[in-house]
Amino acid sequence: MIWPMDVDVVVIGMGPGGEEVAGSLAAAGLSVVGIEDRLVGGECPYWGCIPSKAMVRAADALAEGRRVENLAGTAEITPEWQKVAERVQEVTADWNDEAAVKRFTDKGGRLVRGKGRLTGPKEVRVGDEVFRARRGVVIATGTAPAVPKIDGLSDTPYWTNREAIETKTRPESLIVLGGGAIGCELAQVFSRFGSRVTVVEAAERLVSPEEPESGALLKKVFEAEGIDVRVGAKAEQVRYDDAFVVNDDIRAEKLLVAIGRRTNLQGLGLDTVGLDDQQRFVEVDDRLRAGDGLWAVGDITGKGAFTHVSVYQARIAARDILGEDGPRADYHALPRVTFTDPEIGAVGLTEKQAREQGRDIKIYTTDLANSSRGWLHGAEGFLKLIESDGRLVGATSAGPYGGEILGALAVAVHAEVPVRKLREMIYAFPTFHRAIEAALLGT
Ligand SMILES: Cc1cc2nc3c(=O)[nH]c(=O)nc-3n(C[C@H](O)[C@H](O)[C@H](O)COP(=O)(O)OP(=O)(O)OC[C@H]3O[C@@H](n4cnc5c(N)ncnc54)[C@H](O)[C@@H]3O)c2cc1C
Repeated sequence: MIWPMDVDVVVIGMGPGGEEVAGSLAAAGLSVVGIEDRLVGGECPYWGCIPSKAMVRAADALAEGRRVENLAGTAEITPEWQKVAERVQEVTADWNDEAAVKRFTDKGGRLVRGKGRLTGPKEVRVGDEVFRARRGVVIATGTAPAVPKIDGLSDTPYWTNREAIETKTRPESLIVLGGGAIGCELAQVFSRFGSRVTVVEAAERLVSPEEPESGALLKKVFEAEGIDVRVGAKAEQVRYDDAFVVNDDIRAEKLLVAIGRRTNLQGLGLDTVGLDDQQRFVEVDDRLRAGDGLWAVGDITGKGAFTHVSVYQARIAARDILGEDGPRADYHALPRVTFTDPEIGAVGLTEKQAREQGRDIKIYTTDLANSSRGWLHGAEGFLKLIESDGRLVGATSAGPYGGEILGALAVAVHAEVPVRKLREMIYAFPTFHRAIEAALLGT
């Protein structure tokens, strides 16, 4: 017989969402147990956002160096994978979560290593310990790489994002299955370091949930950089001898599976609290409540698989657990950035989504190359703005610093700034964001 230990809150999964909610509740004086079976911090700091952006930064530096020839003289560029591998090791603290654990325990939280499982309402078991949570349980178990059922694939030593991030050597050639954000970012990184890269994407375009113009732009740029982009192409069969062979005709040293993510909900005991344990996502309300004394945050809620969504939701859930009134979750201005070069920043609705909602919309577009800054820079990219009822409801900024220019557009969509106001404001010359004015004025 194991005697349950009473605490205020148990958090299962200490990724960005779990860490935020557990840390803030512990700092507020509650007794909090955080349970983690890998590394505190989750996917983002060790195999996701942080190391991938360190790789992107390095690959961008190579690309910028190669632009010297056209703009400034000569530069000899010699890519060395070892440098980026060292940088990845540094930014992940060599896949060590000591600092993150300390961040949590310094606030008064208790970390338990292991796989947490709900055993009933407000009750969690991990190893030989059972915790009873007076206020409730937060589940924040995130995702793992999804691996598709493709004939032969499971018998091969394929990579997921985890092996691609950890690799100490650069493959001569690489097949990337999946042309979403993760696939595109990593494809361009390896290509810029010298790998021969083929991207295989089943949808008709890259980054397919985004505007079609974004996918078309990336395809054009990728092909100009020497990446073999195959859209509308389904991987039917994979085999491995001394190399990977997809559909009998694409051969490469390594194969990266980047077709999406699957939520870590299996074996979590959702059925013990009256929830369907076969569901892909946990249904939550606008306070992130998933049931009585149960909250869910992060990728598992299906509201957007981004660190900023996890942390945003975690803050709302924490206030709710503390009994504080605060803003409710609202995703109408959800920003997302694909950190390719050009960057694809987007917020709110795409044109297709706006039309599907039956909205009366007006579209504004402009080509960055026609703006002064874009012309000086030699930039490829565009802005696309979607107006409905006199407000922007969605926008895409694709180009150099596309994710930064997105900031202005995200404010406009979030705060429902009248488009009239956006037309009247002064935009600094010659900036990339001045293209917002050009789009709205049709100049
Ligand atoms: C290559 C890559 C690049 C990315 N780039 C970006 C980016 O640039 N910007 C961005 O916003 N997002 C990016 N993301 C997505 C981002 O990493 C995720 O959205 C974010 O990590 C989700 O946070 P989370 O809190 O939901 O869970 P996760 O980060 O998935 O963490 C969940 C944690 O729970 C643990 N866990 C699971 N089940 C249990 C259990 N039963 N018991 C105990 N512990 C458990 C897991 O081990 C994990 O540590 C990227 C992802 C990848 C893979």
